[in-house]
This record gives sequence, C-alpha cells and structure tokens, in this order.
Amino acid sequence: MSDDCIFCKIIEGKIPCAKVYDAGGIFAFLDIAPVNKGHALVVPRAHHATLFDLSPDMGRELLTALKTVGQAVMQATGAAGLNVGMNNYEAAGQLVHHAHFHLVPRHAGDGLSLWTQHAYESTEEMQKLAKAIKAAIG
Ligand code: AMP
Ligand code: ZN
Repeated sequence: MSDDCIFCKIIEGKIPCAKVYDAGGIFAFLDIAPVNKGHALVVPRAHHATLFDLSPDMGRELLTALKTVGQAVMQATGAAGLNVGMNNYEAAGQLVHHAHFHLVPRHAGDGLSLWTQHAYESTEEMQKLAKAIKAAIG
C-alpha cells in the first residue's frame, strides 16, 4: 500500500471503481477512460511500480486473471479480439506507478493502431542488437 497511489486507494475501496474481478492477489476494474468500451485494468493488489518489481511467483494467478477477465471482456462486449498491454516507466506512457495490465477489447475495423513499425538499417544492425540483448540476459 502506498499512500499517494490511486490504484491502492481503489483496491482498498477508498475510491469507487467498476470492479470486475477480485481473487487472491489480483484485482481488476474498468478503465475510466476506455480505448474501447469494456477496457479493463488487471492490477496486482500489492503496490509494485513496474513489471520488473513483480515476483515471478505471481505468474500463475496473474495469467489466470488475464485469461479470465480477458475472455469475459470479449464475451460481454462482443469483441472479436483483445489487446493486452502494459506501460512501464514514463517514457513508455506509464501514468499510474502501480503495475497494471490493460485489456482492450477489439472490433474488426475499429481503426485503432497501437504503434508504427520501422525497418533496421541492416541485418547486421539487427543481429548486433540481438547479441547485446542475449549478453544482457546472461
Ligand atoms: P497507464 O498509462 O498505463 O499508467 O494507465 C493508467 C490508466 O489508469 C489510464 O488508462 C487511466 O484512464 C486509468 N485510470 C486513472 N484513474 C482511474 C480511475 N480512478 N478509475 C479507473 N481507471 C483510471
Ligand atoms: Zn499502489
């Protein structure tokens, strides 16, 4: 629990929300400004800032929540697809510093475009970066 965290306050019931799921260490509610209607946020109860602060031990119940809520969002909204997204750090668009996953229901031709993609300068540049990432993994 962090005193100045809006998601901690929502989870504790101090700020109202449209709750859709509450099981074990995971809580979910509708995003107040949805990308598409039914856009839900799946949030570990404990206050951790980013993906990198979450324990791998949480993996099972987190994946269960993402699948359960995701399927229910699709069913209730009649969506044909679902995007799962997570912003980590401000440079990636994270506004609320309590780790959370966005579940965005998608409809054919809804016009949303998540990001634009680019080409590498060369295959060598791509391979060099893959090498650096593998080295960082260790
Ligand atoms: P992010 O940019 O990944 O940190 O996303 C934070 C999300 O929280 C945004 O999509 C907001 O619309 C949403 N949000 C902020 N305050 C509330 C609230 N009181 N209830 C529901 N969703 C909220
Ligand atoms: Zn919090």
